[in-house]
Amino acid sequence: MTLHGIAASGGIGIGKAVCVREPSLDYSGVAFGGADKEKERLQAAVDAFCAATQDMADNLKARVGEKEAEILSGQITMLQDPFMLSQMKESIDGGQCAEAALDTVCSMYADMFAGMDDELMRQRATDIRDIRTRMLQILLNRQPVDLAALPAGSVLVAHDLTPSMTVGLQKENVAAILTETGGRTSHSAILARSLELPAVLSVPGALEQVADGQILIVDGDEGCALLSPGADQLAAYEAKREACLEKRRMLEKFRGKPTLDGDGRVFKLYANIGSAEDAAAAAAASAEGIGLFRTEFLFMDRAALPTEEEQYAVYKEVADSMAGREVIIRTLDVGGDKDIPYLGLEKEDNPFLGHRAIRFCLDRPDIFKVQLRALLRAGASHGNIRIMLPLITGLDEVRAAKELLAQCKAELDTEGIAYDKDISVGIMVETAAASVLSDVLAAEADFFSIGTNDLIQYTLEVDRGNAKVGKLYTPYHPAVLRSIRRIIESAKAVGIPVGMCGEAAADPLMIPLLLAFGLDEFSVSPAAILATRARIASWTRADAVRTAAEAMLLPTAADIEKYLQAACAER
Ligand code: PEP
Ligand code: MG
Repeated sequence: MTLHGIAASGGIGIGKAVCVREPSLDYSGVAFGGADKEKERLQAAVDAFCAATQDMADNLKARVGEKEAEILSGQITMLQDPFMLSQMKESIDGGQCAEAALDTVCSMYADMFAGMDDELMRQRATDIRDIRTRMLQILLNRQPVDLAALPAGSVLVAHDLTPSMTVGLQKENVAAILTETGGRTSHSAILARSLELPAVLSVPGALEQVADGQILIVDGDEGCALLSPGADQLAAYEAKREACLEKRRMLEKFRGKPTLDGDGRVFKLYANIGSAEDAAAAAAASAEGIGLFRTEFLFMDRAALPTEEEQYAVYKEVADSMAGREVIIRTLDVGGDKDIPYLGLEKEDNPFLGHRAIRFCLDRPDIFKVQLRALLRAGASHGNIRIMLPLITGLDEVRAAKELLAQCKAELDTEGIAYDKDISVGIMVETAAASVLSDVLAAEADFFSIGTNDLIQYTLEVDRGNAKVGKLYTPYHPAVLRSIRRIIESAKAVGIPVGMCGEAAADPLMIPLLLAFGLDEFSVSPAAILATRARIASWTRADAVRTAAEAMLLPTAADIEKYLQAACAER
């Protein structure tokens, strides 16, 4: 039988099911011992909870990482919230025992958070339920589930994998994780990915369908699990797992190394990020800088614009976490498929050709200047922030943006606030116009970054999000490749750096072409850093140039893709 869920952490895990069922937390037999005594019991349990949770956080920080430990420290803050505690004490004053008071208040908050649209808010419901369970265990003197003593090769099957459950977990003994709840950004998913354990989440009724000791194959890439597989299935998945592990082991030797081609030429390998937390993941993956920070995520999932101070704090955090290495921050790229409800953007018939990105920002200097000021200020300490303008189609847009930047600098001078006076201003080259005009734009921009995600759609007239025309959306189209080559040549002609931050930068088939054209910098998702470094290392300049020359003679996308597949097959 195959169970289906969300692919939350990649890889294949094969092992014996260990079903985690919580001990009974029934407190109906507990008698009310008077308000003072119940409040004392509650306070003693809170103190014990906080001490134990702090220990767990320290343990997790040392073994897994700071971000994962913060999930637990956050629980201490939540439980110590004076408002929540006073609500519990009120319930005790109303005649409830400490267990009932805690259960009532926690259940109310958990239901409230669980009903919210925002995934992060819903995540709080998991935290509150975890607090409730562990507080009841303390009050009722029940032993918590201990995952420290799992036998080797266990596949954990649980309703939810709470942070506290995972603390003692010995990663070597766990083959995979299967849960009944949780999405890709849930704590379970974050933990599974940091522990590099395959995980499939949100499998309905998993605990009912799986029995202890049953053999399970968990496919964290496809989001499915096979129960009691046959010998053939087992053999096929064993081979797949070995291949995955072998690839991971092979890639490890590229961690923390410089990015060199087969002749030892140096390239920059940067990461694309959407938040300050991603910057930490990028640093851990040994990215050499940030090639694209998509700042629109800072503006989403909230009710009002982020202030200059809020933006400054985030940009500074990213600049600090990269310890002086280059950080390219893209100004607000709103519109197209990215809506920000409180901006009240009008509905457009052709949003990708509409009032988006730099066009919106130049029409709303009140919003744009706040971001530019925050960027200028955040660049003051390390001088490593670069500003990147999205969706440029002509020189006038670059000049208008620079004019606003000059106004911001003058204001900061008057106010006596420190900023980076020499901040670089580069552009995304992602429209057909910018590509055709790249020689002219290169004279005005400090650097180029090729945004192939948009460049492909604006060159081939294919909506990047429309599945019906999905097969026409390809980087191998000769028009796209000629466009990329021309952009790189224009940058080289005047000596400005040129990078690529679209998905094509991580495409193994594109790498020989980009090396041959002379790309300086590849910016890819943190998860693709090591594989891209390995790919670049596999090409000598002569091989890349020969492959690109052949490919560029072919007339169609299909011919080029087929040729590149054959040329890259051995690497
Ligand atoms: C691109 O267009 O290639 C790009 C990197 O930006 P986005 O995907 O955010 O449009
Ligand atoms: Mg784009």
